[in-house]
Amino acid sequence: MTPIFPGSVDAAGQRATLGVLGGGQLGRMFVHAAQRLGYFTAVLEPDAQSPAGQVSHHHIQTDYDDSAGLAQLAHLCQAITTEFENVPAQALQTLALTRPVAPSAAVVGIAQNRIEEKAHFAACADVSGVTCAPYAVIETPAQLQAVQDDQADLLPGILKTARMGYDGKGQVRVKTADELAAAWAELGGVACVLEKMLPLTAECSVLIARGWDGKVVSYAPQRNVHVEGILAVTHAYEGNMPPALATRAREAAVSIAHHLGYVGVLCVEFFVVEDGSEHGGLVVNEMAPRPHNSGHYTIDACDASQFDLQVHAMAGLPLPQPRQHSPAIMLNLLGDVWFNTDGQLQEPDWYSVLSLPGTHLHLYGKLEARAGRKMGHLTVTGPDVASVKTVARRAAELLSLPGLDAI
Ligand code: ATP
Ligand code: MG
Repeated sequence: MTPIFPGSVDAAGQRATLGVLGGGQLGRMFVHAAQRLGYFTAVLEPDAQSPAGQVSHHHIQTDYDDSAGLAQLAHLCQAITTEFENVPAQALQTLALTRPVAPSAAVVGIAQNRIEEKAHFAACADVSGVTCAPYAVIETPAQLQAVQDDQADLLPGILKTARMGYDGKGQVRVKTADELAAAWAELGGVACVLEKMLPLTAECSVLIARGWDGKVVSYAPQRNVHVEGILAVTHAYEGNMPPALATRAREAAVSIAHHLGYVGVLCVEFFVVEDGSEHGGLVVNEMAPRPHNSGHYTIDACDASQFDLQVHAMAGLPLPQPRQHSPAIMLNLLGDVWFNTDGQLQEPDWYSVLSLPGTHLHLYGKLEARAGRKMGHLTVTGPDVASVKTVARRAAELLSLPGLDAI
């Protein structure tokens, strides 16, 4: 991979331009990072008012699989990435015929399908040292029956659609064989996995970036707190989890990325289960082939953010090891923040929040607030963990955020 330098002009007179499939908040923060370095950017996204489309030099407004749109993206850009893991892998395949695409269609295809994803985790369990939660694949009525008959140990469990799940969507918690059958019918009988419900003591994730040359850099694991299946709080500071577990998680994520031949930014999510279990404390949950919500703190608390690394990796620039300079807590801002207790729209009290020291507000430019919709996030940084926690708690109180007791 020949590096694509920012500000450069190619033989055809075209300025170095990086492209992204998908126009959500991850695309927006990618565009910010790319533009800060001096690249031009292009976003392919059907929505006219998308977070990334609003801020990009070029917005190609077509469906992700539109051949004319994809051709235009390939024409405009010297390298292309994705921000949305449910983008059709075929679209990345098409783009890769003429342009470097990172991550590749093959790895995005694996991450898009929980069945393939779990098979990959199993295939590299010997090197990564982690396995996933016990599970069964349910694609046919016969498989459902077999689970009901022989795998009662998977209950209570969570039935998850193999494809298109995010933020806890496409998941049903089931306690009995009858509930399982009803849940599978409710999900339309599509391909699913039934995962055993594990007694989690914590959750964490690891972000890594891997270059075309196989070089890997990583951040220390961040500890994540979910409320109703959606990330609410990320704790990113030394001591956020036991050091031995943190080292294991980081090493596991790196080996998973190597095993995939991954290029780009990858996030691997882990469960921490009660000690003394057969899993040895750490269980791999899933991976996202892109920057991740739990890594947003890197923008304000590290000398290179996950989006900077995404840009570097795809453009073939060097990947220096990032350094976290401040402890941080990230609070997700869902649409709920824009509604009062009577369900009336309200303007959040930004004045009070922004008067707190070390608060960094990021709003994604979404025009309509809806309950459960990710509208933005607030990262709190400070000189030490205690002061970061104090400010984060105060901000969470001011905004009536969930997960306050987890700060
Ligand atoms: P996202 O895309 O936001 O990461 P998702 O929809 O892909 O979420 P998962 O990560 O599979 O969903 O699950 C969401 C949350 O549900 C997990 O972070 C965890 O809190 C809980 N959860 C999922 N699977 C299990 C399990 N097997 N045992 C216990 N809790 C679980
Ligand atoms: Mg998840």
